[in-house]
Amino acid sequence: MVEQKMTPEEFRAKILEPAKKTEHICWQCKHLKPVIKGSGLPPADLIGWCKKLHWPFYWCISENEIITKCYGFEKRS
Ligand code: SF4
Repeated sequence: MVEQKMTPEEFRAKILEPAKKTEHICWQCKHLKPVIKGSGLPPADLIGWCKKLHWPFYWCISENEIITKCYGFEKRS
């Protein structure tokens, strides 16, 4: 039996399920660090953090402010 190989991104998506599902464009961006399901520490209204816009700091992405366009967007591979 031949095992199907996954890319690192596919493996990450399989084991780290995001806590939220929203319309943010960030979900398709490689710079999003999502809040993982079951994580109790982050504020409840966050979907995750952007690793690019305010580098070297992380920028909190709110669930209630839907980002549909972003100059820093780079498609996740
Ligand atoms: S660069 Fe823009 S689209 Fe990508 S995660 Fe940051 S805010 Fe979202």
